[in-house]
Amino acid sequence: MWQVVGQSRVVSLLQRSLEQGSIAHAYLVVGPPHVGKMTLALNLAQALNCQGQGDEPPCGVCDSCQKIASGKHADVQIIGLGSNGSAEISIDQIRQVQHSSNLPPFEGRHKVFIIERAELMSTEAANCLLKTLEEPAAGVIFILLATSGGVLPATVVSRCQKLELPPLPASEVENVLSQRWGVEQQRAGLLARLSHGCLGWAISAASDERLLQQRAERLEGLLNIIGGDYAVRFAYVPQLVAWFGQSRGLAQEILDLWLDWWRDLLLVKLGSGSAVTNIDHESMLVDMAGGYRLEQIRAVINSIQATGERLRQNANPRLAFEVLMLSIPPGRGG
Ligand SMILES: [Zn+2]
Repeated sequence: MWQVVGQSRVVSLLQRSLEQGSIAHAYLVVGPPHVGKMTLALNLAQALNCQGQGDEPPCGVCDSCQKIASGKHADVQIIGLGSNGSAEISIDQIRQVQHSSNLPPFEGRHKVFIIERAELMSTEAANCLLKTLEEPAAGVIFILLATSGGVLPATVVSRCQKLELPPLPASEVENVLSQRWGVEQQRAGLLARLSHGCLGWAISAASDERLLQQRAERLEGLLNIIGGDYAVRFAYVPQLVAWFGQSRGLAQEILDLWLDWWRDLLLVKLGSGSAVTNIDHESMLVDMAGGYRLEQIRAVINSIQATGERLRQNANPRLAFEVLMLSIPPGRGG
């Protein structure tokens, strides 16, 4: 039973490889955050070590499958950023992997090393891993997980079989939420849209009120900016700069939410209102879209994207956000 949802292309490819005994020594699983990369990796680790009698592993119920699911299998290791606040995966972590990969499995048939956020390996760590990938030990499988857009050395990528996990259609996320997780229909519909096809996020948001609360606060901030004059807008810049200082990922999340809103306005303007992300604000979107010309909306979308790009290129965040504020057409109040 493969638990990963909606990735039938990749799953059947792996099932075929398992049947034919042609499993690669290393996989690179690429996809947006929360799309199911870790679930897929754990399922593959289970399939490789399953003790069930069925001809379609993983069975999900044998001792080995259960241990892997709960992170207690001695031959399946997950390597990641860890809890020490480090921003990269260090060479020491990879050296330990290297050492451990040379020892025979303790309890399973295969040793599986799952490297989470592999794009965050330091250069030394990546070079060290490369040596291991170039001389693969029998029975050892590496599964590197990377976020789309993350950059890994070409030498490492070339040693891996690449598996891409695209975001799921909103309808599929909605179905899983309501059927498997018992989420009420309307809420499931909203979470499915907000998740952008990343089921893991939708499942978290279904059980953790804070995520929707946080989205409401961020949206309120955006609406204040849209409706406010330049004094209101510039007063919000220090908050954005503070978020950026806290983490770049956080600042990008805010920009993504802004982008969603302006894309929704564009969709409404183009008569495709049923495709909006913020379905719980439909009438507000319709009302607001009426106040802009199409090219104004497009210009704001471009400007938000350009801001993200400038921040990635280490522009001064205060300046970047101020330029963004100036690019939003004057609010009705200002
Ligand atoms: Zn099993």
